[in-house]
Amino acid sequence: MCASVATRAPDDAAGASRLEKKACAMAIDDSSSSSFFAPWPDRLRHSAIILLAAGLALCGLVLLADLSLARAMAVFVCIAAAALVPWRLHHVAASRDDVRAVSPVESAAVSAIVAGMPDPAVLLDRAGRVIHLNAAAAQLAPARRKNELAQFALRSPEIITALREAIATTEPRRATYLDQVPVDRWMELIITPVPVPTLFGGTEKCMLMTFHDQTPLRRVEEMRADFVANASHELRTPLAALSGFIDTLQGPAKEDAKARERFLGIMHTQATRMARLIDDLLSLSRVELSAHVRPDACVDIVPIIRQVADGLEPLAGERQVAIEIELPETPVTIAGDREELLRLFENLIENALKYGASGGRVIVSLIQATSGEGAPEVRIMVRDFGPGIAPEHLPRLTERFYRVDVGDSRAQGGTGLGLSLVKHILNRHRGRLLIESVPKNGAVFTACFPQTKSPSAS
Ligand code: ADP
Repeated sequence: MCASVATRAPDDAAGASRLEKKACAMAIDDSSSSSFFAPWPDRLRHSAIILLAAGLALCGLVLLADLSLARAMAVFVCIAAAALVPWRLHHVAASRDDVRAVSPVESAAVSAIVAGMPDPAVLLDRAGRVIHLNAAAAQLAPARRKNELAQFALRSPEIITALREAIATTEPRRATYLDQVPVDRWMELIITPVPVPTLFGGTEKCMLMTFHDQTPLRRVEEMRADFVANASHELRTPLAALSGFIDTLQGPAKEDAKARERFLGIMHTQATRMARLIDDLLSLSRVELSAHVRPDACVDIVPIIRQVADGLEPLAGERQVAIEIELPETPVTIAGDREELLRLFENLIENALKYGASGGRVIVSLIQATSGEGAPEVRIMVRDFGPGIAPEHLPRLTERFYRVDVGDSRAQGGTGLGLSLVKHILNRHRGRLLIESVPKNGAVFTACFPQTKSPSAS
């Protein structure tokens, strides 16, 4: 009523404010007078037994002529006054009762604790009725509401069973279930009994339900399982070949010098493949382990690329491919790990020589440009003129063991881990890999690194 004054016209404001003040004053008087008179019936009710007992005792004494009526009445007035006064204390006691009337579990403090929990959390009473729930829990199950039975809002039978058991036994329960709306999510529910004090000094077992999203963990587990399965499959093939040839050499081909020569050649290739696979796996796990630590050494990238290209000249000669290098004469520094950068360019140039050999040339060039966010970056492009890669394969090329043509990759001595390693090395260097390809027109693999100031520039 007082606040409505602010919305009135300014000329009316003074009079209105006076009226308002009067009204407010009346309201204050009202409340004080009501607080003065309102407890009377209560006080009479509370004192009724004392007054009755005193009245009966005094009547008895008057009837037995032990006490005069006037004295008995005076004593009664004193007892009545003592029973009904002090009024303030009665009032305080009443307000304390009001506070205690709110059950401790429904208090604002408990509500704040549930609201502050990072995961979806719901506090239920013994009957399974929702006492408090936080915003994350409301988002997880919009049908779940305060003061309603939690079971009504639950879709998954696993949760309903766990909740029913937890309520029946008052023991903790766990359940894992797949929540399919709006997207597939693996959730873990933990139900913990919480003893809460009641109004009457006892304890009541409430149930705290907390939900944990297990999807990222499950994905990592699935990836790990896939990885182990793929790695062991890749190792088993050359191992089987090796043991097969050993058997042949010990048995039927024991005396056959020509066959022995040929088989030993194949065994050498298979053993090299296994060694390479183990080497790539170790490099991959090493890079992954240090993924969060960005290399801080300043390295000149130009001689690193030259070293790799020179080292691959024999392979290029074997495949009849010319490597053309377009690199600046001046140093180009980035924050990097020399060994990892050697590995990265080795993989990209070797792939171009292996898979793009039919084009006859591979160009390795370096340019300095700006990224989409406007930051200066160094881009190293490896371009070949081979058959290229169909667009549907491009997004998957950096997955472990992904190959466009498994037979072709194996024939080339590939492990299917090269581009995955390239991606991980670039991630560690806070860089990125761009792959462009037009089928029949070759492919361009671009490694982009954030540029650091060269020591001479600073
Ligand atoms: P691999 O050890 O098989 O070479 P990578 O991870 O290095 O494994 O490459 C994955 C696949 O990508 C290769 O098997 C090949 O099919 C394809 N690929 C890579 N580079 C090229 C390229 N320059 N041209 C055509 N295909 C390529």
